Amino acid sequence: MNALRLTSLNDDRPERTVIKVGNVKVGEDFAVIAGPCSVESEEQTVQTAHKVKAAGANMFRGGAFKPRTSPYDFQGLGLQGLKILEKAKQETGLPIVTEVTDPRDVSWVSEYADVLQIGTRNMQNYSLLKEVGKLGKPVLLKRGMNSTLKEWLNCAEYILAGGNPNVILCERGIRTFETYTRNTLDLSIVPSVKELSHLPIVVDPSHGTGRLSLIEPMSLAAMAAGADGIMVEVHYHPNEAVCDKDQAMPPHMFGDLMKKLQVLGSCMNGMN
Ligand code: PEP
Ligand code: MN
Repeated sequence: MNALRLTSLNDDRPERTVIKVGNVKVGEDFAVIAGPCSVESEEQTVQTAHKVKAAGANMFRGGAFKPRTSPYDFQGLGLQGLKILEKAKQETGLPIVTEVTDPRDVSWVSEYADVLQIGTRNMQNYSLLKEVGKLGKPVLLKRGMNSTLKEWLNCAEYILAGGNPNVILCERGIRTFETYTRNTLDLSIVPSVKELSHLPIVVDPSHGTGRLSLIEPMSLAAMAAGADGIMVEVHYHPNEAVCDKDQAMPPHMFGDLMKKLQVLGSCMNGMN
């Protein structure tokens, strides 16, 4: 691994990368990113933003460009969706995390995003990685569903090598033979990333499991494993979610989860 001379590794840089987004220092504090899978309407987005803010989330997520498996599924509202996210930010003050899927869209999408998300399907989209590498904006790089740690760190490296040091890794589950869960959430990657790299890593238990009942235990386990945060899909009316309904968490459950994370966080502080 060292032969790769990756700057995302600890070798030449023992201090951890800390990225300030809004009121949270990712890599130092435990960051909670919450919001719907996709921006569906102004009401759904803004209402959900208020709910997650009230529960204590640090950032608001929502996709305006949705890379869907089928071309006939909802593809996102595009620019209109970004404008809705801007409204949610104005009303709640929460920084926006949103996905960009095309290198040609990076510069204008970044005007609306505080953190640009690169999804699992685009982890190895090298033109996209090079494009976000030209920005100073934080990038949330999701792990490719079929990718090894080494492949993932090399993709982070494209962004760093382009001149943007602000990369947050996000474990979102990988493909295995298991079908009960949507993906297999690889929590052992969290301490593995910490051993090798100075970059922060957050965990997405929503796509990682695809099941509402598993999101809380996996969020707590992510914190216990040393993750720098979580990203959770929350919808104000989960039954109406246009995208990823089965994993959409209602705001009251998200509130309970936030309380448990606080308790666990205090216990963990007591251990250090
Ligand atoms: C998402 O977070 O909106 C998303 C599409 O996730 P993934 O790329 O991990 O499937
Ligand atoms: Mn989703």
